Amino acid sequence: MSVKTNLEAMTQKLYGKAIKELSDKDLYYAILNMTKEMMNGKGSIKGTKKVYYISAEFLIGKLLSNNLINLGIYEELADALKEEGKDLSLIEEIEPEPSLGNGGLGRLAACFLDSIASLGLPGDGIGLNYHFGLFKQVFQDRQQTAEKNDWIEKQSWLTKTDVSFPVYFGDKKVVSRLYDIDVIGYEQGMNKLHLFDIETVDESIVKEGIDFDKEDIDKNLTLFLYPDDSDEAGQQLRIYQQYFMVCNGAQLILKEMKENGYDLHKLNEHAVIQINDTHPTMVIPELIRILTEDEGFSMDEAIEVVSKTCAYTNHTILAEALEKWPVKYLEKVVPQLMPIIRELDKRVAAKYTEENVQIIDKNDRVHMAHIDIHYGFSVNGVAAIHTEILKDTELNHFYKIYPEKFNNKTNGITFRRWLLSCNKELAACITKTIGDGYKKDAAQLEKLLQHKDDEALLTEIKSIKKEKKAELAAYMKEHEGVEINPNSIFDIQIKRLHEYKRQQMNALYIIHKYLEIKGGKKPSTPITFIFGAKAAPAYIIAQDIIHLLLCLQELVNNDPDVKDYMKVVMVENYNVSYAERLIPACDISEQISLASKEASGTGNMKFMLNGAVTLGTSDGANVEIHELVGDENIYVFGEKSETVIAHYEKSDYVAKDFYKKSSAIRKAVDFITNKEILKIGNQKRLVRLQKELINKDWFMTLLDLEDYIATKDKIFADYKDEEKWKRMMLVNIAKAGFFSSDRTIAEYNRDIWKL
Ligand SMILES: *Cc1c(COP(=O)(O)O)cnc(C)c1O
Repeated sequence: MSVKTNLEAMTQKLYGKAIKELSDKDLYYAILNMTKEMMNGKGSIKGTKKVYYISAEFLIGKLLSNNLINLGIYEELADALKEEGKDLSLIEEIEPEPSLGNGGLGRLAACFLDSIASLGLPGDGIGLNYHFGLFKQVFQDRQQTAEKNDWIEKQSWLTKTDVSFPVYFGDKKVVSRLYDIDVIGYEQGMNKLHLFDIETVDESIVKEGIDFDKEDIDKNLTLFLYPDDSDEAGQQLRIYQQYFMVCNGAQLILKEMKENGYDLHKLNEHAVIQINDTHPTMVIPELIRILTEDEGFSMDEAIEVVSKTCAYTNHTILAEALEKWPVKYLEKVVPQLMPIIRELDKRVAAKYTEENVQIIDKNDRVHMAHIDIHYGFSVNGVAAIHTEILKDTELNHFYKIYPEKFNNKTNGITFRRWLLSCNKELAACITKTIGDGYKKDAAQLEKLLQHKDDEALLTEIKSIKKEKKAELAAYMKEHEGVEINPNSIFDIQIKRLHEYKRQQMNALYIIHKYLEIKGGKKPSTPITFIFGAKAAPAYIIAQDIIHLLLCLQELVNNDPDVKDYMKVVMVENYNVSYAERLIPACDISEQISLASKEASGTGNMKFMLNGAVTLGTSDGANVEIHELVGDENIYVFGEKSETVIAHYEKSDYVAKDFYKKSSAIRKAVDFITNKEILKIGNQKRLVRLQKELINKDWFMTLLDLEDYIATKDKIFADYKDEEKWKRMMLVNIAKAGFFSSDRTIAEYNRDIWKL
């Protein structure tokens, strides 16, 4: 049956109307239902061993376009709709974006689900069904405010199941309800994303913005992702959420094992649990608890089998991001786990005396990562340099005990979303040139290198970039109310707002450039600086940086001496859908984290795949991008990780010395509280940020600023050399194959999961 016949049957069934008679909105629901039915028809992926990817975040983005592509019906449907006067890309916009993640870590989990299914591997995600997800960002008076993101509609990708489990906390029992989202592989069968919820959640307790009673667990448990944990109630709510996730996950896994008739004593032969960062760590003691209490296991055997089933992925070396829960909170929320955690701690203490490998420390805090490392069989970092830093410094004491557990899995991205779906023009151009083998085997993108002197191809790639820039400019005019020049250089930094990612350094460059133009030194090609970033609501300095960017936007874009040469735009509510518009339009990809701090980055990979050139530090996966494309096709600057780590060890970095030494740095930093800016902005925020940069600057912005300015000036100058630039674009696309998450998942399977 043709897709059109299918859709017509669905529109008749739902509305008793033909396609042409329907609004885009009604049509969206008809396509949604049809797609769900077709996905179900593909059947589930089977095998005798399955991976459970357990994660507090799955930043899946909109699903329609991807599901249609993976079903292989995108074009047929788009053509069928066109015949009826409908535009599929407009219909796609109607889908609300679920915001079940913060940034990279959650997006990685989503890319992995796509790749696991696309490789035909049996593997499900396990997480939570947050009703309002992460907050929606709204700018008011050039500051970030937060609103709830109400993404769940009556008809959606979620399917309510009849699976439900009891979950006991210290002070109450709740009952869960499982919702599933089908995950269809590219020309493959189906896996599932299991999202647990409770039916007593009460959306009406959210009053102003995202404020709610953090202690009313029955009503608030699955309202928000990462509720603010700057107070005790917030921290405890996170523990409630984490235990709710793992308790349900453990019950689901054991239920599936039993349904398949597997012997739980051989759990590790049929299941592997990948723990995505420390948030799901309690799955380890929870499984041990169930096996010993309900399944008649001895403690020794329960610990052994669980340890052979669980593997841990580390995502960060930032100390503040490594979870350490007070024993007191765990005693209150999950008292049944504490005897197990104490037993695990006791066994470690009996074997190892060093303080820094203990599970419960002297201050009575439980180090979640330490549970994962002692009682899991694999510990992986997410880029080569990150794994080396873990082994050499951050987790060196563990590496000495368990060298065999440590391995690297450099992150990846799904090319279905980050090329085939978001940049159909470029995908078509590539297919025309090298065939479509690269869609299943990304390494084949290298075939493009044989065409690096093909003028017609180079020109076509450049003109696709131009087209995507014009599309973005039109979209931004509508959504941000800012007019940008599609012929300017698009310099883009989009990622969570964090001092280590150093948006503030980019802001200082913008000030530097602004002052240069005011002084009469005009750039030969106009530049548009684009930002997108949400900041954690309790992270004050991050809010201050957003404020500075929005003030600069106001100042620069309205200055008659400057606005024809540069513009600044911070887009509101940066999310996956916005990323899909920004990335194809980018010329320069800003990846400027302080070396050693960005575990991998995945934005860097998306940009490269879409023909942007990286301006970056030697950090995370930038290092591997550099190795792949060579010195001529990337712009690297800044101090290396060894130097940075040494500064921290010796505590000898003094921001003020850099401020005093360089007049360029001083002028840029001083300008933050210039009277022109103070006219626009909030004095308290700007003064605080300026002081932070001069007196503390924990992430060493000023250390790299001069090199950043010089390198950025060079990349802007090189942009004028069209022949050079086009070749750099081509080489970046051709070398991006390594960063397909299909490669990453094949490695997880080869080394860890062995499905
Ligand atoms: C890819 C992605 C990220 C991660 O970006 P980094 O630059 O690697 O931090 C964050 N948010 C969204 C919406 C993404 O798509």
